[in-house]
Amino acid sequence: MPTTLTVRILGAGISGLASAILLAADGHRVELIDERFEAPAVGTSLGLFGPAQTALARLGLLDQVRAMSAAPDAGTLRSADGRVLAAVPAGKALLISRSDLVRALLEALPESVERRRRRVEEVRPLRDGADLLVGADGAHSLVRRSGWPGQGRARSHGVTVLRGTAAIAPPEISETWGRGWLFRITPLAGGGTNWFACLPEHRTGSRDEDLAHLRRSLGGRRDVIDEVLAAASTEQTLVHGLHTAPAVWPVRQNVVLVGDAAHAMAPNLGHGANTALQDAESLALALRHAQSRASQGPSPQQGPSPQEGSLQSPSAVVAPALRRYSAARALPGQGWRLGSEAMLRVAMSSRGAPLRDRVLHCTTGRLAERRSSSARHAERRGVPR
Ligand SMILES: Cc1cc2nc3c(=O)[nH]c(=O)nc-3n(C[C@H](O)[C@H](O)[C@H](O)COP(=O)(O)OP(=O)(O)OC[C@H]3O[C@@H](n4cnc5c(N)ncnc54)[C@H](O)[C@@H]3O)c2cc1C
Repeated sequence: MPTTLTVRILGAGISGLASAILLAADGHRVELIDERFEAPAVGTSLGLFGPAQTALARLGLLDQVRAMSAAPDAGTLRSADGRVLAAVPAGKALLISRSDLVRALLEALPESVERRRRRVEEVRPLRDGADLLVGADGAHSLVRRSGWPGQGRARSHGVTVLRGTAAIAPPEISETWGRGWLFRITPLAGGGTNWFACLPEHRTGSRDEDLAHLRRSLGGRRDVIDEVLAAASTEQTLVHGLHTAPAVWPVRQNVVLVGDAAHAMAPNLGHGANTALQDAESLALALRHAQSRASQGPSPQQGPSPQEGSLQSPSAVVAPALRRYSAARALPGQGWRLGSEAMLRVAMSSRGAPLRDRVLHCTTGRLAERRSSSARHAERRGVPR
């Protein structure tokens, strides 16, 4: 008989909701705590790749998410003067609005999951009576700060991120790298434009003023950016700082970190939500594996096996499951975080920007231009690709 665990999850974002759905489906008693259970008001786009799609299939949500998503077109990386620096392939990602994804997860939450709406100020009481505490509480995770003292604080990159949606067709699918700034334009599922920008830290506390600052800083650089910024509105714009998680091993005793709490990354590789879904799937699979191992009992060398139908102690399941989870997820999570930070540095470099642009344009940029011009020729001659 599988051991039923009492699992407490702090955070009902993508990682917490996905974990709650999968663990409740496996019969565990799940309590999910968040100060708000709601989808974000501004539906900026997320790109979900193959492994995250596998996790969505396990959640039973892949078809629903596919129906709400757009397939991305290929785009280009450009310099501030419009030169092509590299091609950005379309891949087989699904582009979905973050609001739609969180709404789908909220709707899929089984009745059996106990929802507690409150702000948590102290982690210790959360461990009382729980076999497992899951920290799914985002980049500034309280669970991480209290369980990993001295090394749990998120790191600021001195960058302000503005992101939003605009009710126009995307004038181009691109990311433009300037001197100390970047601007990305992608399509929005259902029509419209998704955009995001990074600038050196500048936040006034007023979204109106922050958007005006962005328009002043990037206005006149490229027509496509001007077009998107002219269509952007304060109501459909979010402004925040950019923080990434420290390098921590995501497991301590019976506490585990998932999603941004484990490895909050810079947005430059577009993988935060992907890794959040994979963490949730991996945690559920690790617990299932440990349950089945525990119910088979110890090997003959380890002593007598438990009586048929008897329950294993929760720690006999949790400890090996968390070892398995951390072996599977610690390095990929930290790898994406480090890669995204490196990409952020290159994208936001200021003095090095002219050299960066020259090198990229002469290598990957020229290759991308040659490929796209031969594709255009082939199309004119009617050659199937
Ligand atoms: C500009 C930008 C673009 C991005 N683009 C992509 C992309 O294209 N693809 C991609 O995969 N990812 C992308 N991401 C990253 C992605 O959005 C995140 O990685 C993902 O949402 C993390 O989910 P999470 O559930 O781990 O954390 P969160 O979404 O931060 O959820 C944490 C939850 O915990 C709750 N909480 C926290 N502390 C407490 C507390 N003390 N008490 C009660 N509740 C608490 C919060 O209310 C929140 O609901 C992007 C991010 C940015 C900034």
